[in-house]
Amino acid sequence: MTSPYIGRFAPTPSGLLHFGSLVAALASYLDARHAGGQWLLRIEDLDQTRSQPDAERQILQALEDFGLEHDGEIVRQSERLDLYRAQTERWLAQGLAYYCDCPRRTLLQHGPVYPGTCSTRQLSPAADHAVRLRVNDTPITCVDRLQLPLTQNLAHELGDFIVRRRDGVYAYQLAVVLDDIQQGITDVVRGADLLDSTPRQMWLYHLLNQSVPRYLHVPLIMREDGEKLSKRLASEPLQAAQAPQTMWRALRALAQPVPEELRGASVQQQLAWATPHWQPQRLPSALQIMQHSLPG
Ligand code: GLU
Repeated sequence: MTSPYIGRFAPTPSGLLHFGSLVAALASYLDARHAGGQWLLRIEDLDQTRSQPDAERQILQALEDFGLEHDGEIVRQSERLDLYRAQTERWLAQGLAYYCDCPRRTLLQHGPVYPGTCSTRQLSPAADHAVRLRVNDTPITCVDRLQLPLTQNLAHELGDFIVRRRDGVYAYQLAVVLDDIQQGITDVVRGADLLDSTPRQMWLYHLLNQSVPRYLHVPLIMREDGEKLSKRLASEPLQAAQAPQTMWRALRALAQPVPEELRGASVQQQLAWATPHWQPQRLPSALQIMQHSLPG
């Protein structure tokens, strides 16, 4: 028997939800609901220096305005530090991870691949040391429902990577995997900007002896000038009063053939159409740019 579908949306409260993140949330919601599955919500607020006051409340409000109801309690990563700490300690004790005190400027000189400077130094524990996870020299291939397979050799392309930063903040790569495992996530549907994190995450699943979820990386929404529509570009905040029109455009951005008549319909009516009709295979591949459906 196949396991029941459990999906999730995992926003970082570093800014407001914009059209691009709405589209990613909508894809993950529709994929879960189409499968009759659950859709969980997790707030990825590990890095308090990036979290913006009130961003979480506004994200929750936007999800509500767009009718994207989640199941269960909201999980916040800031409340789960014990889980991340315990696993990091285990890896340190097993020799799978080690402390690193390399200064930032040395790392910058080395370029993108960590040369393993601290891997044999056996530094003693210190709160201001980073913790790195050892990788090995084997190709890891991410199979995605939409994207071409992506293969990375972590040893050649990245080196041992950080699971706890020098400022004590646990890395996204660590927290996302421990949480997805603990929440029983079977399907990860998220923006294609996270595709190249996936081999690192798969390495964690391997070390933890867990099977990887299915992946669907949704193409990013670009602006006319080809720039990714990111929170940093301070894209137009979503307007509750415009929710029906924006929902229609978001469905079109996901290449779903939502009928013209539903353009002014409530978000609930549009979701009631889109859920049974969800066809992720209609999504364009990552290299195509979807420009036709931007708000404006
Ligand atoms: N928190 C991440 C973000 O907002 C998403 C994590 C994920 O879906 O794996 O970009």
